[in-house]
Amino acid sequence: MKLQSKRSLLTAAMVLGLGVAAVQSAQALTIVLDFVPGATTDINGVGTLSESFASWGFTGLDLAGVRAATLTAVNKDYLQYPTFGSNALSPLPNGKELNINFSLSNGLTGPGNGDSEWYYMAIGDANPNQGFLGQACLSCVRNSSGVASVANGSIFGSTLTDSISGLLGLASNDTQRINLLAGTVAHEIGHSLTLLHPTSALANPGDSLYSVMATGASPTSMPNAERVKDRAFAYSEFSSLIQSVGLRNVSAVPEPSSYLMLALGLAVLALRSRKAGQAR
Ligand SMILES: [Zn+2]
Repeated sequence: MKLQSKRSLLTAAMVLGLGVAAVQSAQALTIVLDFVPGATTDINGVGTLSESFASWGFTGLDLAGVRAATLTAVNKDYLQYPTFGSNALSPLPNGKELNINFSLSNGLTGPGNGDSEWYYMAIGDANPNQGFLGQACLSCVRNSSGVASVANGSIFGSTLTDSISGLLGLASNDTQRINLLAGTVAHEIGHSLTLLHPTSALANPGDSLYSVMATGASPTSMPNAERVKDRAFAYSEFSSLIQSVGLRNVSAVPEPSSYLMLALGLAVLALRSRKAGQAR
């Protein structure tokens, strides 16, 4: 009995181990959010310098926290979209997610996650200053047929923190400050994956009537106050992302830390059952 349960526990550990290996060797597309360490120029000639965020008024986030929160927000927009099962308007089937990953960098160091295809979104202080919040090449990372037209490792766009900081007066807490920044990051990446500016507010599962791809200029004419909200891609925009990026199965694999805790727990259990056997 004890031996049996020990065996099944070990089998479970082996299955989980295989699952972890599969995630590490996944060959997905990675967009690297590059908080530039120094003078950087993207493929359209837009330059950026390092941004410390010291003047942004964050109260509970240091520089590493700002970067991590930006990654979390972008991951939410692309990889935590509601599925059809929880929202009948969603084009995302149950058990599926976009076949894309996001990571952080501080320079052109690659994604470090095992993916062999990656592109950089530069995030920094515009050099020289520009009259826009960010920019990216249209459909260059993926067109509607799922094909890239820029070289692997390209800096395909820039998010300009000095321009965005002009909107900080609209934000009253760290969440809203991150929404200002991450909203532009997610928007510019969306352009590189075929998305255009909508002509109006569009149905979406977020906190605003306006989607991530809305713009303050024509044709959307979104009020700037919407930018501090946690906006989401419109259902129609997410359909286009499914077309350009493709889907993968959502894998129910625990985080490395919980996997480690489970392995430790199994080791303790195995030791205990051995001791129990000896006592008998
Ligand atoms: Zn745009």
